[in-house]
Amino acid sequence: MSTLYYYHNDFLQHDTGLGHPESPDRLSHINAALKESAFNSLKRISPQLRQDVIELIRLVHTQAMIDKVLQKVTADNYIPLDQDTLLSDGSAHAALLAVSAVCDAVEKVCNKKANNAFCAVRPPGHHAEPEKSMGFCLFNNVAIATEYARKVHNIKRIAIIDFDVHHGNGTQAVFYKNADVFYASTHEMPNYPGTGYASETGVGNIVNVPLAPGETGEQFREKYRHKILPALKRFNPDLILLSAGFDAHKDDPLASIQLVQEDYQWLTQEIMDIAKTCCNGKIISVLEGGYNLYALADCVSAHIAVLMKA
Ligand SMILES: [Zn+2]
Repeated sequence: MSTLYYYHNDFLQHDTGLGHPESPDRLSHINAALKESAFNSLKRISPQLRQDVIELIRLVHTQAMIDKVLQKVTADNYIPLDQDTLLSDGSAHAALLAVSAVCDAVEKVCNKKANNAFCAVRPPGHHAEPEKSMGFCLFNNVAIATEYARKVHNIKRIAIIDFDVHHGNGTQAVFYKNADVFYASTHEMPNYPGTGYASETGVGNIVNVPLAPGETGEQFREKYRHKILPALKRFNPDLILLSAGFDAHKDDPLASIQLVQEDYQWLTQEIMDIAKTCCNGKIISVLEGGYNLYALADCVSAHIAVLMKA
């Protein structure tokens, strides 16, 4: 049993334009960090485009929204979906491949081909709502993987932990009234997208824990210890997905939370300990944000190193 690492060079073909924080360099920096010998036993998978990928996306998104993402874009042009979400000619293919990767990871982990998986995908997904791409996100990779696990693999109870510094409004919208899916998020407030108040609780399945600007790793850990981790234990999931964003790092340009690499290692281990007791350790971690290239590479590699200890 091992940890799977999903990556494809075509993820670099989603071109967001000069100076955009969600750049292809993010994945190149992560890959450079994973060249160290400590990661030799990581099982690297280059995902294939799944035949059923559109059908899987339809589990979460409307056809009109899907058509918008898949519209033809010429090589010398960009089409803006919102102020900071651009389509280039390689974007649709990258987005379909990202969904294919996370669903393949679900399939392999559910079929016990691996303990857990990390998907280094672009574009990210957690802001994408059923009817709208937004906030650097085209399709909601984690929400689609969750519906795929539920509807195709008959996994009953799924927990999503979203530690990206921004609230996963899209994921919350998809599962807001679904008692079989637990969604918990820590996120800076105020910050983009403006949702994620503690009062947004769904049908008791949503736990939002806002962080004030400047909060430290110790304050972050306290909130997990007292709110999210006990709720996760009580929910007792059959599978855990992570919306793994690393933009709460102290050096990230898009937020002002003060996490360091050790905070991500700590959280990964805590979630793994719970996963071991409730779902045989089954975790699929999916990259969301993280925009300081060096902090991102350090934190993702540290996160993966902990996953590899399963
Ligand atoms: Zn983010």
